[in-house]
Amino acid sequence: MARRRTIPSAPAPQSPRRHAFKAAPKRGFSAAVAFADTGVLYAAARTRFLLEKVIGHYGPRLRVCDVVMDEISHRAASTVDASRQLEKNAAADAKRDLERLAVTVEPLTAADATVFDQVLAQLQALAKARSGDGTDGVKGHAGEAASIACCVRLVAAGDGTVLLTNDGDASVVSETRGIPSRHFGHVLNELVCAELIDAEAAFGRFTNAAVVSTPPASSCPRSSTDLGCTKASGICTACDAATS
Ligand SMILES: [Zn+2]
Repeated sequence: MARRRTIPSAPAPQSPRRHAFKAAPKRGFSAAVAFADTGVLYAAARTRFLLEKVIGHYGPRLRVCDVVMDEISHRAASTVDASRQLEKNAAADAKRDLERLAVTVEPLTAADATVFDQVLAQLQALAKARSGDGTDGVKGHAGEAASIACCVRLVAAGDGTVLLTNDGDASVVSETRGIPSRHFGHVLNELVCAELIDAEAAFGRFTNAAVVSTPPASSCPRSSTDLGCTKASGICTACDAATS
């Protein structure tokens, strides 16, 4: 009997990946220039003195794109309803610390315009695909796009970069440009490896920050164990091999 030929059915349309965050290396990319987005800065600013620790940890490697700085200033000065009051407070605290500690503000330049436009379109397309009707995708994302465009420029000049963001879409788009991204939980893990905070406290800070900004649920640490350092004899190279 002749075998019936079957035509394979078309694959179901895939929803975009929610994020491209990788936990390793837990102790971070020690030589990379780190561009911080609003979410990670607000999350750190939720706990008194924590953003100062983050700024100290990255030192001169930390940059904030001017577009992100404008977003922070705007949020800090905005009139908000009660549901966004904590975010406004975090923005005001972040702005104060970034200015007081003279964190480098990296300007988006005319040379970045092409990459910025491409990245912005990618981010908006991802948001639109997820929302279904496009209502969420048509505006916003300028800060993430500007930060990624700055990273692309620095990489072209030979520098290593990393994007600090809680935005899953930004992590996906950033990965397509060869730029790794780390969210607030990863930043806390770096502080644990650097012995600036212990894992228990770090998990508490992560939980405390969730009211203003948190990464996609599937990438979040589930307990303090996920934020622990596997240091042995003062050396935490084992952390770099950690997966998930
Ligand atoms: Zn470690």
